Amino acid sequence: MLYINGEWRDSFSGDTIEILNPATGVKLSEVASCGREETREAIEKAHEAFQTWKQTTGLERAQLLKKVADLLRENGEEIAKTITKEMGKPITEARREIISGSNYVEWFAEEAKRIYGETIPAPSFDKHLMLIQQPIGVVGAITPWNYPLSMVTRKIAPALAAGCTVVLKPAPSTPLTAIKVFECFHQAGFPKGVVNLVIGPAEEIGAELTSNPLVRKITFTGSTAVGKKLIRDSADTVKKFSMELGGHAPFIVIADANVDAAVDGAISTKFVNNGQTCICTNRIYVAEEIAEEFGKKLAVKTSQLTVGNGLNESTQVGPLINEQALNKVESHVKDAIDHNGEILCGGERLEFPNLKGCFYKPTVINHAKETMKIAKEETFGPVVPIFTFKTEEEVINKANDTHYGLAAYCYTTDLGRGLRMMRELDYGIVGINDPAPIVTQSPFGGLKESGIGKEGGKQGIQEYLEKKFVSILIE
Ligand code: ADP
Repeated sequence: MLYINGEWRDSFSGDTIEILNPATGVKLSEVASCGREETREAIEKAHEAFQTWKQTTGLERAQLLKKVADLLRENGEEIAKTITKEMGKPITEARREIISGSNYVEWFAEEAKRIYGETIPAPSFDKHLMLIQQPIGVVGAITPWNYPLSMVTRKIAPALAAGCTVVLKPAPSTPLTAIKVFECFHQAGFPKGVVNLVIGPAEEIGAELTSNPLVRKITFTGSTAVGKKLIRDSADTVKKFSMELGGHAPFIVIADANVDAAVDGAISTKFVNNGQTCICTNRIYVAEEIAEEFGKKLAVKTSQLTVGNGLNESTQVGPLINEQALNKVESHVKDAIDHNGEILCGGERLEFPNLKGCFYKPTVINHAKETMKIAKEETFGPVVPIFTFKTEEEVINKANDTHYGLAAYCYTTDLGRGLRMMRELDYGIVGINDPAPIVTQSPFGGLKESGIGKEGGKQGIQEYLEKKFVSILIE
């Protein structure tokens, strides 16, 4: 179902898309699929709604958003099951996504009340200078399938808190969670047209969102290639952007590190969401002295991970999203073997008698080389290569040798070294001995080709505000 101007609707054409469970291959549902016409209408309704929504107070917007956070939590178990069914992640991870997704809404509900301006010292006594902050206008939001709830709320909540209105296009493989989120917005009583949901072919909806002059900002999470296209396509209407794009996270283990903690950190940063997260470790760099111990321990723990249908409470690693994702994983592993990489564990598909999903054994590759595909391309799957290094300078250069710059991790017990790594790693997010450097309070965002802008934290709402300078001459 589409949600336009406060109403649940079908598309004009009556077209639908099938939603499949990636663990079982079974059809879950069929939802309306729309194109440019419905998207244009949603944008126009959002523009109309903006004229009154921008005049609401921060407190009013906060109260509505707080209701959404409460509704997401009340319906949390049902939404978590929807997440697992449509994208495959373990139910325990889906429940964590309910917590983080609803926390973003609550956080930005609170931030809605704290949109301050500034007075600026004037060059003469007869002038009064001010900076005021105002909502940008209609926001086009495009979200991926890997976090079908929290990527939606991390964009919509700050936009609404700032006083913007929104047209959201979720990934076509995971619209069921987005529909559930919009049911919460509907129930909370948001005015008509303030939040709108369009589902359908990416190119058609994307073309309208990027070319329509009423859309003043595009906020996107997805691949770097699509992000670049959206920036190019928006050039004629000079929009603002928030771009959360690809990553290729290095995970550095210095010789003085606590090896067991580093192994656990590597497991959680690699295999969370089956490796399908833009901040997932894609390269492990271990100091030569401890490489053998680290590799053995990592392989033992990796081979103990339980793979299966995410709906089973004991599952730690679910299926990949689709066959294409599985093919990419296989091609990275094959290429690593061709370059004399050693498979320490995994390295093959996994078949279950009752499941038709794309399962792959969690895999560790030893003796990795810079010439391997996996050293440069984002794998987005449960495979990790181990490289070794001799000096700090060498590992910093290798870690930074990529056009990505989203997240990096470093394990060391030397505080000074940890601080040097923090300064030298060209990444927007750095975890020192911390495999989970993402919280509601933190600004999430990448450097280089990993993106533009920040989501979360006190910075998140700024992305949806224009700054206007006002000069008053006092008579
Ligand atoms: P992923 O590999 O995570 O699917 P994509 O960048 O392909 O990454 O997709 C992320 C989001 O961008 C999805 O909602 C997808 O439908 C959308 N998307 C893909 N291509 C386009 C496009 N040309 N215009 C607008 N949105 C697009």
